[in-house]
Amino acid sequence: MTDQATAETRGFQTEARKLLQLMINSLYSNREIFLRELISNASDAIDRLRFESLKDESLIADDPEFRIVVEFDKDADTVAVVDNGIGMGRDEAVANLGTIAKSGTEEFFGALTGDEQKDSALIGQFGVGFYSSFIVAREVEVLTRRAGDEAGTRWTSTGEEEFTVEERAGLPRGTRVTLTLKDDAKEFAEGFRLRSVLRKYSDHVGVPVMMAKEDSDDDEKGELEAVNSAKALWTRPRNDVSEDEYKEFYKHVSHDFEDPLAWSHNKVEGKLEYTSLLYVPKRAPFDLWNREAPRGLKLYVQRVFIMDDAEAFLPLYLRFVRGVLDSSDLPLNVSRELLQQDDRTRTIKNALTKRILDMLGKMDAEEYGAVWDEFGLVLKEGVGEDFANKEELLGLMRFASTHDSGPAQRTSLRDYMVRMNGHAEAAQSEDDTEGSEETSDEAGEAAKGQDKIYYLIADSDAAARSSPHLEAFRARGIEVLLLTDRIDEWWMSFADEFDGVKFQDVARGELDLDDVKPADAKDDAEKSDDEPLLKRIGDVLGDKIESVRASKRLTDSPACLVLGEHDLGVQMRRIMEATGQAAPDSKPHFEVNLGHPLVERLGDEPDEDRFGDLVSILFDQASLAEGNGVAEPGAYVQRVNKLLVDLLR
Ligand code: ADP
Repeated sequence: MTDQATAETRGFQTEARKLLQLMINSLYSNREIFLRELISNASDAIDRLRFESLKDESLIADDPEFRIVVEFDKDADTVAVVDNGIGMGRDEAVANLGTIAKSGTEEFFGALTGDEQKDSALIGQFGVGFYSSFIVAREVEVLTRRAGDEAGTRWTSTGEEEFTVEERAGLPRGTRVTLTLKDDAKEFAEGFRLRSVLRKYSDHVGVPVMMAKEDSDDDEKGELEAVNSAKALWTRPRNDVSEDEYKEFYKHVSHDFEDPLAWSHNKVEGKLEYTSLLYVPKRAPFDLWNREAPRGLKLYVQRVFIMDDAEAFLPLYLRFVRGVLDSSDLPLNVSRELLQQDDRTRTIKNALTKRILDMLGKMDAEEYGAVWDEFGLVLKEGVGEDFANKEELLGLMRFASTHDSGPAQRTSLRDYMVRMNGHAEAAQSEDDTEGSEETSDEAGEAAKGQDKIYYLIADSDAAARSSPHLEAFRARGIEVLLLTDRIDEWWMSFADEFDGVKFQDVARGELDLDDVKPADAKDDAEKSDDEPLLKRIGDVLGDKIESVRASKRLTDSPACLVLGEHDLGVQMRRIMEATGQAAPDSKPHFEVNLGHPLVERLGDEPDEDRFGDLVSILFDQASLAEGNGVAEPGAYVQRVNKLLVDLLR
């Protein structure tokens, strides 16, 4: 049998070997999925050939009826999945079945923990594919011939260290994968068991999946019958498709192992006709942050598969969405380049974007919380990129907040505005009677009420919560949103207002909250400005600062640094430096708390040197409190030590 002249034995790529071992051990309890993977590959292979045959009909002339056949042999303990799809050439078989050439492979192996339970979820998410055969098989044989080729290939392996390939003449077009089952997996060589698994995994597949008729024993070459409906799932009416079918179909298109979190299935008729089935996955793929990673939808034109990863129909910030788009209007020979320029593409992209945002917006808090934890950072990109949907995207943002205690991002801008004093009442009074308007006017006399959404950007939740900038807000019970992701300053620079209410960074500009709401605890002995002291401080700090002023934001800290309304913040500075751009220089304003005992005593310090040291320490401490470190740590330590020595004398 073996063709000695062409046979060769090769080792699996290290990663492939590792994945094989991991899979066999950790996916054992879920081993029937091998059938889903093999059927999925077979149907992809048929999709590809159908597409190629549009240009060259001769490729399928010998056998134009596409189908997948599942055969079994109880005596030999074998099960085979046979397709008449595109097939593989010898080199393709070696590359496809002996290596893993997926983006994210490195990240995947890096993320493994050694904990079987956790890892099995990761493995599923990575995609198990063809290798899952080895969960149930002690040996796998692949016979394959590429459409249009003369020679065929035989590939075999026991899934350990190596595989063999050799030339094989006389093979039909397509691929036959035969598994010789392990002793504990013999159930898969039984018609009844196979049928029930196939019904679950193949009903949505658009090609017939055939088996020998039920009454014919084994594969006695009896008559074949289809075990699936062979109707592409998205072409069926919505109320005809069960939840389970939607879930299975997701796994088929995405190669994901877990159920999707949500989906939206729509048929659009009118000037443009298309059907879309869009899924939000449960988990972010490993390569979410890799700009080159494949993304996008599976594109069909009038049911004919055209391409995987058609990225032109989704904005970059929705790159985690999976699914299918079937258009009736695009030409069958459409290419990626043509898609990019096509007006129809743009129209569909806009409609799909709205549909997804809508789907996210309608989720309940818990479900959306899960989406946010996985994809929140990507959605934030949207605010900076998709101006047409800015308001809707802002509605989808979630924040940590001084209203809650932990770093979890669960507060929406709506939540904030409902809690924000004044605004909720104002919204209410619109449809209230005149009488109640008077009450709100009365309240308005004491203070105008809050008319801004306050936020603070910091490096970590802990740094945010201990920031001196929050003191005045705490004293007044005003909620502040806390942002700690590395791109927060960037996207917030696009978020000027939400529902007509402006955003305000609490670490910027001059701030006087007495207009908004007087402090709860009236500790103010109304410290009026102390011009001479402020001037003395300014002389010490010189051109390190833009100005010195009396602070209205502090209650407990002696001093803080404040950015100008339009200055670059720390995050943007870092981003610019990292990308090699020169960040424009800007200096902070130095605000001092004239009511703080340290500052009060400072005014009485007669020794100019000592005064200078104290001011420099205050300045450095203000920077430390922001989590930014000090410009000259050595000098800072020396100054503090000098004071300590004085103290101990
Ligand atoms: P995936 O399907 O996720 O790419 P697999 O490990 O299942 O990963 O398969 C690797 C590759 O082998 C496929 O991308 C495809 O090119 C090829 N392949 C697998 N099964 C078949 C088949 N039945 N016919 C043709 N090519 C196949």
